[in-house]
Amino acid sequence: MSKNIAIIGSGISGLSTAFFLKKFGNDKITVIESNKISGGVIETKLSSKYKFETGPNTLSVSDSRVMDMFNELNLKIKYPNPLAKNRFVLKNKTIIRVPDSFLSFLKTKLFSFKTKIKILFEFFNKSKPVKKVESVYDFFNRRFNKEFVEYAINPFIAGTYSGNPKNLSIKHVFPLLFNLEEKYGSIFKGFFKKNKNKYKIKRTILSFDNGLYDLISSLSIELKENIILNSRVIKIGFEKNKFNIEYLSDQKITNMQFDKVVLTVPFHKIKDIQFDMELTNKIKGLSEVYYPPIKMVTLSFKDNGNKEKFNGYGILIPEIEKMNILGVLYLSSMFNDSAPKDETLITVFVGGSRQPSLAKLDDKKIEKLILDDLKVIYGFNVEPEFITTRFWPHSIPQYDLDYSKKIDLMRSIETDCPGLLFNGNFINGISLENNILNSLEIAKNI
Ligand SMILES: Cc1cc2nc3c(=O)[nH]c(=O)nc-3n(C[C@H](O)[C@H](O)[C@H](O)COP(=O)(O)OP(=O)(O)OC[C@H]3O[C@@H](n4cnc5c(N)ncnc54)[C@H](O)[C@@H]3O)c2cc1C
Repeated sequence: MSKNIAIIGSGISGLSTAFFLKKFGNDKITVIESNKISGGVIETKLSSKYKFETGPNTLSVSDSRVMDMFNELNLKIKYPNPLAKNRFVLKNKTIIRVPDSFLSFLKTKLFSFKTKIKILFEFFNKSKPVKKVESVYDFFNRRFNKEFVEYAINPFIAGTYSGNPKNLSIKHVFPLLFNLEEKYGSIFKGFFKKNKNKYKIKRTILSFDNGLYDLISSLSIELKENIILNSRVIKIGFEKNKFNIEYLSDQKITNMQFDKVVLTVPFHKIKDIQFDMELTNKIKGLSEVYYPPIKMVTLSFKDNGNKEKFNGYGILIPEIEKMNILGVLYLSSMFNDSAPKDETLITVFVGGSRQPSLAKLDDKKIEKLILDDLKVIYGFNVEPEFITTRFWPHSIPQYDLDYSKKIDLMRSIETDCPGLLFNGNFINGISLENNILNSLEIAKNI
C-alpha cells in the first residue's frame, strides 16, 4: 500500500522526488511550498527582446536516467551552439582558451611546461593526504601543483560553488576523484581501471525551449493535484511513527499527518521550522552551513565589432588575477534566441565566498565595478542597452572541511525520526543533475 508522503519544498529536488514517486506508483504525495510558484532557485526571465536565467543557467547532463526523465516530460531540449564548447580563463589579464584535447593541452599557455609534466605524470604520484580532512586546494596542489590549482581549480570552484578551494572538502566536492585516489593511488589510473557506470552518457550542456523553467512547468503540470503553494511549513512533529506537519497559508494554520517526510528546505531556512525539542540542537548544527551571497548582473550591448570576443560558454577569473568579477557567461553566443542579433547578452557574477562583501554593494556601485573589469578583460567600453541584477543572499551550500559532521547530523536526525529524509543540494552534489539523481534514489528507496 502506498505511504502518505509529504515533500517540503518544490524546487527541483522536491518536484523530481514527487515525479519519481508518482512514476513508481505512489499517488499519496503532497508537495508543500512556501512560495506562490514552484521552482526554488530556478527562474527564467522572458521579455520581447531577451531570454535569460537569473538562477541556474544550464544543465550539464551525463546520465541517461536524467535524459529519460526529460523525454517522459516531453520537454523540448535546446542545445547550445557548438561554439559553447569554448571556455576561457583569464591569465595575466589575457583571455586563454581552456584546452579540450590532448593537442590543445600541449599547446596551451594556461599552464607552464612544468605543470603540464606534473599533470601527465600524475599516474606516478604516490603522495598521500597529510591531513585527515583534506581541502580541494591541498588535494590538487599535492596531485598536480600550485599553478594548476590557481588557474584551473580556483576559477572552477568559484564558477560552480561560488566557493574557495581552501575551505571546501575534496571528499564531498569531488567524491569520485577522492575515491579514485583512495582505491587506485592515482586519479588517472583510477579512470582507466574503474568500472563504467551503465547510465553514463557523453556529458552535454542543455536548456529547454523557453529556458530552464520549462522543466518546472512540465513537472508542475504532471503534479498539479499534488502541490500546495503559498504554504510555509512552520512545524514538524513526530509521534507514534507519524509526522504532524503544520503549515501557514494566508495567515491560516493547517495540520496534516504523514507517514514519511522528504525535507528539501535549504539549510539557511531550516531554522524557521520548529522541530521536536530533542532535535533542536542538531537542526541548529545544519543551519550553520554557509551559503555565500552572490550577485548576477545580466547586461546586453551593441556588438560594434566585438562579437567574436564573446564566442563561447564564458570566462572564469582566477582569484590571483585580483579582479572584482568571478566570471562571465556568454548567453547570446550559447543560445541565438536569447537576444536580438546585433546585441551581445552576458551574465556577470560577483561575490561568492571569495568576496562576499562585493555581492552586497548596491547595484550602481556593482555596475561600475563590472564595467571597469570588462574594459580590462575585453579592451573596450561596454555600454549597456539593458542591465538587470539578481541578488542571492544565500547562493550555494559550501561543503566545507567539517561537512562529514553535517552529513552525520542529517543521518542521526533520520535515525531519530524514521521516515524523515533529507534531499537537496546540501547532499551528494549541488548541480541540477545531482539533485535529480538524488531524488530518483530517494523515491526508489522510500
Ligand atoms: C545563483 C545560482 C546559480 C546556479 N547555477 C547552476 C547551474 O548553472 N547549473 C546547475 O546544475 N546548478 C546550478 N545551481 C545549483 C542548483 O540550481 C541548485 O542546487 C538547485 O536548483 C537546488 O534545488 P533544491 O530543490 O534543492 O533547492 P531550492 O531550489 O532552494 O528549493 C527549495 C524550495 O523549498 C521552499 N521552502 C523553503 N522553506 C520552506 C518552508 N518552510 N515550507 C515550504 N517550502 C519551503 C523554497 O521556497 C524553495 O522553493 C545554481 C544555484 C544558484 C543559487
